Parts: sequence; structure tokens; C-alpha cells
Amino acid sequence: MSEANQPPKRPVGPDRPRGRERHAARGSTVARDQPVVAVVGYPNVGKSTLFNRLTGRREAVVDSMPGVTRDRRQGGAEWNGRQFQLLDTGGIDESDPTPMGRQVAAQAIVSIDEADLILFVLDARVGAAPGDLEVAERLRRSKRPIIVVANKCDNEEAEARAQSLWSLGLGPVVCVSALHGRSIGDFLDVLVDSLPDIAIEDHDDDDLERSPAFCIMGRPNVGKSSILNALLGEERMIVHDRPGTTRDPVDTLIEFDGQEIVLIDTAGLRRRGQMREDVEHYSQMRALDAAGRSDVAIVVADATEGITEADLAACDLAAHAHCATLLVLNKWDLAQPDLEDLTGRVRRKSRQHPSIVACSAVDGEGLHRIIPAALRLYEKSRTRLSTHALNNALRALAEERPGPRHGKRRLSMRFLVQTGVGPPVFRLEVNDRSLMTRDYGFWLENRLRDHFDLSGVPVDIEVRTRE
Ligand code: GDP
Ligand code: GDP
Repeated sequence: MSEANQPPKRPVGPDRPRGRERHAARGSTVARDQPVVAVVGYPNVGKSTLFNRLTGRREAVVDSMPGVTRDRRQGGAEWNGRQFQLLDTGGIDESDPTPMGRQVAAQAIVSIDEADLILFVLDARVGAAPGDLEVAERLRRSKRPIIVVANKCDNEEAEARAQSLWSLGLGPVVCVSALHGRSIGDFLDVLVDSLPDIAIEDHDDDDLERSPAFCIMGRPNVGKSSILNALLGEERMIVHDRPGTTRDPVDTLIEFDGQEIVLIDTAGLRRRGQMREDVEHYSQMRALDAAGRSDVAIVVADATEGITEADLAACDLAAHAHCATLLVLNKWDLAQPDLEDLTGRVRRKSRQHPSIVACSAVDGEGLHRIIPAALRLYEKSRTRLSTHALNNALRALAEERPGPRHGKRRLSMRFLVQTGVGPPVFRLEVNDRSLMTRDYGFWLENRLRDHFDLSGVPVDIEVRTRE
């Protein structure tokens, strides 16, 4: 897996769920437009632990006594923008003649029938157990894609032993430790690569779902309309003006160098003057809604005034909507404030550290840089960082500035994994969440942003306690 800046696997557009709801573990309703992944295997191999890790559930009903089972559970998970439903089965144990064992096997079989992908979980320390070949045969007959998950690979030795599981002839063998979180990111990469494209097929007729979405925000009179109109007049730009080209009549579909982009909430800006009196148009709600539907907010400021508190507030609002931000300093023909100074101020005062593009809607200077810069931000917010790179960075950061201490206890950061893209979401496992301070959290966020070149991109870190 490469480290960063991979092209988006599945570009998505304006109408998908945004922000937190996109990466939070969902409830147990099966959305049938999401692929279903069944977790099967013998009792006690770690299916439940794996299920909890992937769905982000904490109420682990984990019991180390073989044969102890639970109700079938179901939960939502997401990786790199792909959502799927996990089914945790009680476990296959066909040799077990007890009623409980048979019930468990029945549950597993039902799950296989419902599944689009099967995770066959084994205990790597045990290797292929007697009976595994029969189960493998049964799984193969299901004609579903299968990933063999060698769990309990807590160390390299177990990982080496797990290689014997290729002999099952079922498909890729992926080594993980569900309990310690080892290699979970790499495993999830393989998992989403193996998912059938259910959601994509559902929306194939809808190209808008796949286009990056940008909005133009800012105070009145900074030049938003002028910039938009100038951009739409550029030669590289094709404007699709047919009615119904976008889902929302206030949006505009454009093509820039062959790349389709949806400009969100542009109707008022395009009809210059008409909505001048429409105070509502500039209200926070409207802006928040536009940012909420966008991947990138282009926040326009007026060079004659520099970057004001209100401009910074607009950047924060975009960040709040999980939107990447680009600051555009317009009216460059009238004033040329020191960009280095301004960049420093923005870095100190705005959480996302957006970069600044200077331009003039009147003489056209700098305009050509706006859309390419926004597209770069879009790509960056879809970055996938490898678990390996993240944990190397985490180790270095912990050395640079040890975690805050409370009494005798000090925050210790155990593991960092990316759990979502567009924008990137990370899960940080620590010894005790209550030791995390606001200050340290911000520091960490900023250092990760610098380290992985994510300025202007929201970086969302979910902190969890893991003893
Ligand atoms: P299930 O019956 O297959 O659902 O298995 P559980 O999830 O209940 O796990 C059984 C036991 O294995 C529990 O004691 C877990 O803590 C332990 N376990 C699960 N995953 C790992 C792992 O990656 N490494 C180690 N060492 N133990 C694990
Ligand atoms: P909006 O309210 O943010 O959409 O701002 P407008 O696009 O309506 O622009 C407000 C005023 O600023 C208008 O009089 C524009 O002609 C003027 N304006 C916009 N961009 C520029 C620019 O780059 N340079 C100069 N000199 N004037 C500009």
C-alpha cells in the first residue's frame, strides 16, 4: 500500500452523507445498498473481537471459553469511504453435536447465504485445525469471495506460522491481531478491494455522485460573484447549463480540463445583483449547508482589508462542516498585502491552516490557480495513509512531546489508524482517554497535518481508551 495521495478509489459527489455520520459506526439496520460481510470461523478464534474492532463497538461480549456464543450481531463499518455491513456469526462448529453447537453452525450458514464477502477467521497460533478443510470446502461451494483472516498474529512468529493457511486454497491470507489492532489497516485495504460494487452499481446512472463538489463562501462584497463569473468565462471551463444537470437547482455542473465538478449553491452568485437583498442567502445556515455538501470551500477575502476575523470565521465554519478550505484573496489589483504575513496569521488563528491564493476578478490575475488548488485539496482530503506510516509518525511525535500527565498517570498513545477518507478520519488508541488535553490534541492534529502535507484539510482524530 502506498503512503499518501493515492487517486481517489471512488470519487463521490455532493449528495452523500457528510461529516461524522459518514464514519461513525452505524446501528444494526442492514442497508441493503451496502455490501454484507460475514465473519465466520470456529468459536474462540476472535471473531467477536474483530467485529468490535471493525465496527468500533466497545461493549465486547468476549469470553475465552470455547463454545460460548452470542446472538448474531450486525453492525456498520467504513474504510476509505466504502461502507459495509458486518455480520458476526456465532461460529461454525459442525463437529459439535450439542444443540448449542448446531444452532451456532446454522447461524453461520445463514450468514454465508446473505454475504457478499466472507471473512474466514482462524487462530494463527493453532494453524489449520482438523475440520478446517471441510469448512473451507463448504465456503468454496458458496461461490462468495473469501478472505482468510489469520487472527492472533500478535507477533512475527505467529505471522510466519499463518502462512501455512494458504494451503486451504481459499484465497488471500491476511494476518491481523484483532485484539491489539496489528495490521488492521492493511487488512481493511484488502477487504474493501474485495467488496462487490453494490453501492456503485446503484448509482451508476448518476454521474453527479462521483464529482468533487466545491462551494464559494465569504462576506458580502468580497467578490464571490465576480470570481465565479470570471471562472465560468475561462476557456478551460465548460458550464453545463441544462436544467436538471445538478440535483439541486442552486448548484452548477462544470467541466474543468475534462474533470467534472459541482459548484454548490451558486445560483445566487451567478445572477448577480438579484439576490443582493436576500440576507438569508448569506446566513450562517445557508453557508453551513453549502459547506456541508461540498468537499472544498473556497473562502473569498478582500485584499484591501487583509484577512479579517469574519474571514477566519468562515474558514472555521467550513472546517466545522468537515470541508477542506482554500483562502482566496481577491482584489489583488487594488492592494497587495504581504502574503507571508497573512499566511502566518492564518496558521495561528485558523485550525485547518488553509493556504492562500491571491487573485483579481477584474484583471484576471491568479484566477487560473483557484480550481487546480481546490482540486489538489480534494485529492488530499481523500488521502489514504498506511497504518505503518501513521504509527511511525505517532512514535516520533510521542518522543518529541510526551503525552500530558495527570497525577502519576501519563497519556500513552498506542495505535493510530485511518478509518475514513474525504475528509480523513483517524482513530487514536490511548491508555486513558481522560488524560488527553485539548492543547495536546490540537498539537497532535497540527503535527500530523504538517507531517502528511494536509494543510487546508480537516483532520479528525477520534480518541479511544484501550487498556
Ligand atoms: P469468537 O468466539 O471467535 O468470537 O472469539 P472472541 O472474539 O470471543 O475471542 C476469543 C478469545 O481470543 C478472547 O479471549 C480474545 O481476547 C482472544 N483474542 C481475540 N483476538 C485476539 C488476538 O488478536 N490476539 C490474541 N492474543 N488474542 C485474541
Ligand atoms: P460578492 O458580494 O462577494 O458576490 O461580491 P461581488 O462579486 O458582487 O463584488 C463586489 C464589488 O467588488 C463589485 O463592485 C465588484 O465589481 C468589485 N470587485 C470584485 N472583484 C474585484 C477585483 O478583483 N478587483 C476590484 N477592483 N474590484 C472587484
